[in-house]
Amino acid sequence: MLGLMQDWPLLCHRILDHAAVQHGGRRIFTRSVEGPIVETNYRKVRKRALKVAQRLARDGLRHGDRVATLAWNTARHLEAWYGIMGCGAVYHTINPRLFADQIVYIVNHAEDRVMLADTTFVPLLEELAPKLPSIERYVLLTDGAQLPKTSLKGAIAYEDWIGEVDGDFVWHALDENAAAGMCYTSGTTGNPKGVIYSHRSNVLHALTSSSSDMLGLSPREVVMPVVPMFHANGWSLPFTAPLAGASLVFPGSKMDGASIHELLDRFRVTCTAGVPTVWSMLLNHLEQTGGKLPYLKQMVVGGSACPRAMTQTFQDRYGVEVIHAWGMTEMSPLGSMCIPKPEVAALKGEAKLDLQTKQGRPPFLVEMKITDDAGRELPWDGKTFGRLKVRGPAVARAYFKGEGGEILDPDGFFDTGDVATIDEYGYMRITDRAKDVIKSGGEWISSIDLENLAIGHPAVAEAAVIGVAHPKWDERPLLIIVLKSGQRASKSDILGFMEGKIAKWWIPDDVVFVDKIPHTATGKIQKTTLRECFRDYRLPTAAE
Ligand code: AMP
Repeated sequence: MLGLMQDWPLLCHRILDHAAVQHGGRRIFTRSVEGPIVETNYRKVRKRALKVAQRLARDGLRHGDRVATLAWNTARHLEAWYGIMGCGAVYHTINPRLFADQIVYIVNHAEDRVMLADTTFVPLLEELAPKLPSIERYVLLTDGAQLPKTSLKGAIAYEDWIGEVDGDFVWHALDENAAAGMCYTSGTTGNPKGVIYSHRSNVLHALTSSSSDMLGLSPREVVMPVVPMFHANGWSLPFTAPLAGASLVFPGSKMDGASIHELLDRFRVTCTAGVPTVWSMLLNHLEQTGGKLPYLKQMVVGGSACPRAMTQTFQDRYGVEVIHAWGMTEMSPLGSMCIPKPEVAALKGEAKLDLQTKQGRPPFLVEMKITDDAGRELPWDGKTFGRLKVRGPAVARAYFKGEGGEILDPDGFFDTGDVATIDEYGYMRITDRAKDVIKSGGEWISSIDLENLAIGHPAVAEAAVIGVAHPKWDERPLLIIVLKSGQRASKSDILGFMEGKIAKWWIPDDVVFVDKIPHTATGKIQKTTLRECFRDYRLPTAAE
């Protein structure tokens, strides 16, 4: 017997319809790429998204065709996503920080037909265009008056492009399992792989992500997505904010501390989300200027481990609750957030921080387990590390064009490539990427734990730990440090600071001071490059 409820496919544009009807006037601010702050709302975004859909359909885009976006977080980018999905096409976000060759690879691999791009990227695209044969036309996200002179094929200003249609369009009827968007993994080894979100997975993911023990969004919140829409599905904020009717503030291309602080303050942002690098720029700015954060209630930090010292400073000095989040492109992307259950709600001070350094617990629709290399499940005791595996309706089951082959285990779990512990209450803590963990004498040392500890030293701006070959122990940790400008610290200062806070055998064998640590296009420490640089490094303990 079947249920007798309505067949109402979970389509992304229904989120925008809801926002336009229920929260039509909710304000959306953007620091435009052209400079000035501009304002719109959900009603207007929907109207313009309909024009995008109509224009793409008129230009011959068919269901499943890919439309690339190379763009900052702006209201135009938001309406473009919805317009692309609303005619059955697929948004494909491109991270401008990728190497040129990787951009060429992913555009060709995705066979993108149209490129919507901010004017910032015109010089880059002019250089790459001869290698992007599938792109039929470049639409630049600006108006006719500000359209730069360019050789790009069919270049047109977005405002003129949508100005040629009237918006009298009905969203296409689609299967909820149809592709809605795609995003390539950052691929530290091998070529990036395409993850394809469906309408259904995006809607289900937005429903759970906006709920109270996740982002906790509502029409009373003002949300600033600092995490770019080209990172891991924009952490779903382009879906969760309109679903909840929250007001939005888009930072455009300016992510420095002063620009972010100005928007947080001026628009009374209550909730923001981004990677630790951005928040450390904000902290530096606040420390230099004596700025405050009177309106901000919560800051979601993920993408890399949030250093304990950062959580403590934002909470104690600025009164902002830091929420540690974990996820990945393959998970749409949110997999867990660290919000207390009653069992741990009374924790205070250092014990609360201990909990907050964990990446948290998964919402409904994400199941987790940790296993050993043979796939055997490991205990949830908060100590045993294992490979972290996940499953759920918004978790990838394959990559585009079958790259990477079969990616699920026999029970349908996807191996995240992360190593983690899970405690008795279900709180997960990432101890490493499987390939970054340091294997010393058959035991594992967590590079992330060492980095988090080192960054707590007041003179340290950034820390990275890699395993370096050791004749006796196989690998031993090497700590690489960037000091804060104007600060000094020696190797023994740093190691002395770490002593007593971790097992003795975890203490790094050496410390090197550098001016800069390399980062990937998504802001993570590029350990492959560091390992390459220090491949022949001889640890002082190697001779012992
Ligand atoms: P991406 O697909 O680019 O978002 O990268 C996903 C990977 O980023 C995860 O598999 C983790 O290795 C890492 N990651 C994301 N969030 C965190 C976090 N809060 N702490 C530590 N690592 C994280």
